[in-house]
Amino acid sequence: MINWYHLLVICLQMVNLVSSIIYTYPPARSNLSKLMYHDMEADFGSVPTEGILGALDLSTPYNACYHLYPAPKKDLPNTNFFALIQESSGCSYSEQVIHAQEAGYKGAIIYSRTNNDPIIMGGDGPIIVAVYVKKSVGEDLKHYLYKTGSTIKIAPNPQMSLQIYLVPFAIVVGVCFFFMLAFSVGRYVRYWLRIRRSRLSPANLKKIPTKKFKKGDEFDVCAICIEEYVQNDKIRILPCNHAYHCKCVDPWLTSGKKLCPVCKQTVESDLKQTSKKVIINNSINDVNGSSALTEEEESEDENTPLLAASQNLPNSGAMA
Ligand SMILES: [Zn+2]
Ligand SMILES: [Zn+2]
Repeated sequence: MINWYHLLVICLQMVNLVSSIIYTYPPARSNLSKLMYHDMEADFGSVPTEGILGALDLSTPYNACYHLYPAPKKDLPNTNFFALIQESSGCSYSEQVIHAQEAGYKGAIIYSRTNNDPIIMGGDGPIIVAVYVKKSVGEDLKHYLYKTGSTIKIAPNPQMSLQIYLVPFAIVVGVCFFFMLAFSVGRYVRYWLRIRRSRLSPANLKKIPTKKFKKGDEFDVCAICIEEYVQNDKIRILPCNHAYHCKCVDPWLTSGKKLCPVCKQTVESDLKQTSKKVIINNSINDVNGSSALTEEEESEDENTPLLAASQNLPNSGAMA
């Protein structure tokens, strides 16, 4: 199961958001300066929104792997104390902070043994403020121990609040953008498929028969360019038996719709039948050397049932 809290912490760590700031306040007439140091908040405890003011004390033992000497409340009874603790390989961060908490400290500043970037200390248990700083910062902070009369404040990074809103906003915008992009791509693909389905492929175009126009053919005018056919014009005959110039109808079918421009009959469904029919017709033409026979046969095909029916009708004159 995904631990969303830890996921959020990892995300925040990636963008360096869970940092707070340590402000130092040296006493008046001191050689020390007011400074501020970036740190990294622990995975446990939290820095209050208004920050927490207190005095810094060096932990004893320095690595806080064992019970600490109590916070020096005898010296400053109403003061919050923070323990300055060195990172240790002998115990966990949470153990170090728990020891500080048990000793009466209100916060723990753990400084690294190296000058690597601060990390987020993981663990469970402590409730007091805990932050992690570089080794150099830890060494600097030793000049601001409570014995010098200095105080320190640990407060949230002011830039952080803006970033905390910006990051979720950026995530929301990113997610919305992703869905919009996916929706647009899906819509385009559907549109493209619809267009592709409505057009005739070049392979299927080749299945529609063509012929060279000869005088006496049943076709006379191309309905697209409204020009009469002349001898040897290359024409394409659609399954509905409408013919057009190839140069006129081919772009219509492959770029527009696979419908006959005149009768709107789809050309693809009857393609095989037409193909066979024209092959047969062409064969007959080849045998007879004339297209007139084709015209006659087709005309006969169309008229035969009607003629046959009319022949079967009783003679109207005889009836009368
Ligand atoms: Zn034409
Ligand atoms: Zn047609």
